Amino acid sequence: MRRYNVSMVNKKEGMNMAKKQFKAESKRLLDLMINSIYTHKEIFLRELISNASDAIDKLYYKSLTEKTSGVSKDDFSIWISVDKNSRMLTLTDNGIGMTREEMESNLGTIAHSGSLDFKDGVEEGSKSLKAKTAQTAKDAIDIIGQFGVGFYSAFMVSEEVRVISRAFGEEQAWEWISAGADGYSVKEAERNGNGTEIILRIKEDSEDEKYGEFLEVYRIKNLVKRYSDYIRYPILMNVEKQRQVPDAGEEGGGELKEGEEKPAPKYESYIEAETLNSMVPIWKRSKNEIKPEEYNEFYKSKFNDYTDPMKVIHTSVEGVVSYDSLLYVPAKAPAGYYTRDYEKGLQLYSSGVLIMDKCPDLLPDYFSFAKGLVDSQDLSLNISREMLQHDRQLKGIAARIEKKIKSELLEMLNTEREKYEEFFKIFGLQLKFGVYDSFGMNKETLEDLILFHSSAEKKWVTLSEYVSRMGAEQKFIYYVAGASVDKLDKLPQTEMLKDKGYEILYLTDDVDEFAVRVMAQYKEKPFKSASEADLGIEESEEEKKAAAEKAESSKDILSAVKEALGDKVSEVRLSRRLKSHPVCLSSGEGISLEMEKVLSAMPAENGMKAQRILEINAEHPVFDALKTACGKDKETVTTYAGLLYDQALLIEGLPIEDPVAFSNAICGLMSGN
Ligand code: ADP
Repeated sequence: MRRYNVSMVNKKEGMNMAKKQFKAESKRLLDLMINSIYTHKEIFLRELISNASDAIDKLYYKSLTEKTSGVSKDDFSIWISVDKNSRMLTLTDNGIGMTREEMESNLGTIAHSGSLDFKDGVEEGSKSLKAKTAQTAKDAIDIIGQFGVGFYSAFMVSEEVRVISRAFGEEQAWEWISAGADGYSVKEAERNGNGTEIILRIKEDSEDEKYGEFLEVYRIKNLVKRYSDYIRYPILMNVEKQRQVPDAGEEGGGELKEGEEKPAPKYESYIEAETLNSMVPIWKRSKNEIKPEEYNEFYKSKFNDYTDPMKVIHTSVEGVVSYDSLLYVPAKAPAGYYTRDYEKGLQLYSSGVLIMDKCPDLLPDYFSFAKGLVDSQDLSLNISREMLQHDRQLKGIAARIEKKIKSELLEMLNTEREKYEEFFKIFGLQLKFGVYDSFGMNKETLEDLILFHSSAEKKWVTLSEYVSRMGAEQKFIYYVAGASVDKLDKLPQTEMLKDKGYEILYLTDDVDEFAVRVMAQYKEKPFKSASEADLGIEESEEEKKAAAEKAESSKDILSAVKEALGDKVSEVRLSRRLKSHPVCLSSGEGISLEMEKVLSAMPAENGMKAQRILEINAEHPVFDALKTACGKDKETVTTYAGLLYDQALLIEGLPIEDPVAFSNAICGLMSGN
């Protein structure tokens, strides 16, 4: 919805063009940049260099795949120049360039996905910016970080930004100019050859910020080395150097006369173009030569994050298919991670040439959080997306990458437990979805990577830890599902298991019980819900006999309660698991009450219901009251049955049908009616 102040475009060459407005989100982002309290303003250079490099990549790729004439790899370069007097910093590339339309749409809008979350974020960000509290700074950084700073970062250090660009294959160049959030204009321009020139008029120095440093050659050299060393095209700059002036005497062949002193050597300065970067892609360098900061800087500039990654996985594989890969596990969930819009994938290079920005086939869904790249000489440059999916080589690489990520995660779990738990808090849900997906097809890959809370120490445990603690007589891996560890820890259903000293897994995410059911067992130990009516605990003949006798003697009471409750429950029985609580609900075969809750919250309600079994504790004084009532009047039995059932529902976290009746019944009891 770009607004044009004057009818579209003024066609006359060189005339003042109408100023155009940025799109709303872009304007806000710009505001944020201009007034930024973001402390790493220097990263603007890395962003612009990265864009220039991308533009060259695009042209290089085009030249290779379309056999374009007149493009030679050796000519590609990025130039930086500074002019202190006019406070200009210029970045020039001979990449693919932009047409007028591309300029407007690429520089006038935010290209990143997820601009929806963004809107809210920015509003908050800019509002609180005014307050300038520590929290605000964090908000702003979060927003900048979430979306990657990109081209707009230039405005952090510039009063005005000009972009002159000529698209490859076009005759006409265009100039885009903006002094910030109040808009931009575009006009015709001249430029020799294809490429883009970004001209920044650097802000005046203020008390807090010395923007002038970005006009110092040594500072620029430093920044390029630090942030952009790996860029594969030369980043050039004219650098002033000193050299000794050859001695005039020497030239004349004259010799020093006696008593004459050798004159001090003279120096002159000259200008020489210097390549500032080493140009070796980081993934092609040997691991032990790369500093952690280098890995991190590369990650941040390449994958639009401002937080260092949690883990770096750099591998070089020689074999049937050879490739280098550099993978990262982010320390934060990427923007929109748990939404449909999130696009997984790794960058794919063929012998150093980028052929795809997000190749989804390289990552299984459950590892979709990984960022990074793969470079292989065994992949054809001309491969299309459709063909890639079926490419044997690519499948081979994907399989090895999956293995590698898994082994690295396991290693983290075993040697850096705290860090792994951090990881799991962010991405564990995705792993558990992975277990559940495709009918548990990938459970073997994932079962040792998932964690659950448990009754043992109320901290995360692995399934393997659980099983290692199981006594010989324990046949099942017990679990309960519910809203929180605290709630689960109080569930009456677990009393007997705890008494026996059995550990219980506490499942608190919606997907958990579904995942556990799909797994069915771990190391041949079946899972069992602690809220299932049958806990699968073996009893002695005596115990069985005693229970049968008790059930027989309570038969009338139980059927009176069942009659009072009707279809609400499928069965009423004496509980063998309750110790101190009077009642609980358990479920029969099929889905559990927790699963019923999850399913009914889904948009496509499928009406699946759990079987409800009401268990009553015969040892509880309430049972005696029930017994007494049974001998007296039916009405009291109905009231008691209703109350017990409602309590069981409440304990389970389920709504009761008639809260008013429940309240009245309790009041009745309290006032002795
Ligand atoms: P991103 O690089 O993450 O897409 P930017 O805001 O940095 O976002 O840039 C927006 C777009 O502008 C780029 O995607 C690219 O299409 C275009 N662009 C920026 N710089 C250049 C350049 N030097 N040459 C060609 N196109 C460019």
